[in-house]
Amino acid sequence: TYNEIELSIPDTMFALKARYDADKNGSKVNLAPGTYRDQDGNPWVLPSVRKATQLVMNSPSYNHEYLGIQGHQEFLKAAAQLILGKWSPDIASLHTSGGTGACHMGAVLLKRLFRNSPNPPSIYISDPSWENHHSVFRHAGHQTSSYPIYNTQAKSLDFKAMRNFVAQADPNSIFVLHACAHNPTGCDPSPEQWDELAQLFKEKSHIAFFDCAYQGYASGDLQEDVYSIATFSRQGVQMLVAQSFSKNAGMYGERLGALHIPCDSADAAAKVVDLLKYLNRREVSTAPRFASDIMTKILTSNDLYEDWKVDVATMADRMADMRKQLVDLLIRMKTPGDWNHITAQKGMFSYTGLSAKQCEYLTEDCHIYLPPSGRLSLTGLTTHNLEYVAKSIDFAVRN
Ligand code: PMP
Repeated sequence: TYNEIELSIPDTMFALKARYDADKNGSKVNLAPGTYRDQDGNPWVLPSVRKATQLVMNSPSYNHEYLGIQGHQEFLKAAAQLILGKWSPDIASLHTSGGTGACHMGAVLLKRLFRNSPNPPSIYISDPSWENHHSVFRHAGHQTSSYPIYNTQAKSLDFKAMRNFVAQADPNSIFVLHACAHNPTGCDPSPEQWDELAQLFKEKSHIAFFDCAYQGYASGDLQEDVYSIATFSRQGVQMLVAQSFSKNAGMYGERLGALHIPCDSADAAAKVVDLLKYLNRREVSTAPRFASDIMTKILTSNDLYEDWKVDVATMADRMADMRKQLVDLLIRMKTPGDWNHITAQKGMFSYTGLSAKQCEYLTEDCHIYLPPSGRLSLTGLTTHNLEYVAKSIDFAVRN
């Protein structure tokens, strides 16, 4: 009966958000959000997205019909072009419900492909990673384990450990890689390091499962941010690419994403698409439509695409500026420790190195909400709360 259901452990981030919402203190600050906030702390509808939405709704062909099982064809081609630099018939794509849906469908596909294998490959996930990665892959029936990427002392990427792990893993292993703006650490390999990894993946016949939820957020430039995928593609590494438009188009709740799988031939891609459609029909039938109409307008019109690029850069610039201003304040206050890792890290998050105890102090006593991992979302910072946050961090570190 329902009474016998064991309650699951609450999702840390959603639980923290509930605590923040319930807090009545006027100076409360949410440094946990995984959604972009503007300079006043409000959600931001990108001007390019607003314009494209109006165009979609004013179009004579506007409707809410179902998409086909594979999804919005024009969207899939434009989305592949954006993330892989090209579209061709040897790419198998599926329109999904956000990046989570893309990860899920990739996981379901892999499970299916290896269903008769006595030794299905392990799925390796970075330690740390987006908190949902292990769950999504395990939920699809995979075994998952971790690979190292982070040096806690130096508060930076531990490339050597990462590289050695990849080199020593069994051939044909599957690695989930963050294409850019690593969540939660903000630490990405350099282009040269990606090149080295790509070569190693090829040598070992590993499969790269790229999760790309932040294209544009690391450098402000959409193309620069997918260098990782481009170099793996040049090496001919087998890969799956999970793409999300939640962050870079600010269409979080509209659930827009895609899964792309470059194949050896158009015939192979057609078979993969066929299997993806078979699986998708049983999962959700078809993806949500509205956001794909909007994004297709943006990706296929020169003017709107240029507008969107500006919007993406606006978000990335604001986050980079907040990083810099926070570090400047901490240095000015001579807050004990070295804070330059915050500006070296990229994207929406900084792995501050603040301890769980310090984070709990900030939350409980200062009404500044961030998870025990010390992951700080730069989008929660504004010129209005920056000084209060810096002073509170200073106090937390000294006491
Ligand atoms: N992957 C990573 C690394 C993420 O950070 C997120 C969102 N927090 C996702 C996937 C999921 O994105 P979406 O909201 O599009 O499902």
